Amino acid sequence: MRGEDINTHPTTTITCPECGHNKAAWWLQQTRSADEAPTRFFQCLKCKHTWREYD
Ligand SMILES: [Zn+2]
Repeated sequence: MRGEDINTHPTTTITCPECGHNKAAWWLQQTRSADEAPTRFFQCLKCKHTWREYD
């Protein structure tokens, strides 16, 4: 996280691995070089736990 405002991100239905809440904000972030696909990150709307999607 870079201190972004979570309220600007769209939300989706996904289960938080920390608390089991089923709503999280998500965004795409370029992690390394530009020729790699960006990684999708999620942040739980309840406990603020942040995790990334692995494919
Ligand atoms: Zn949570």
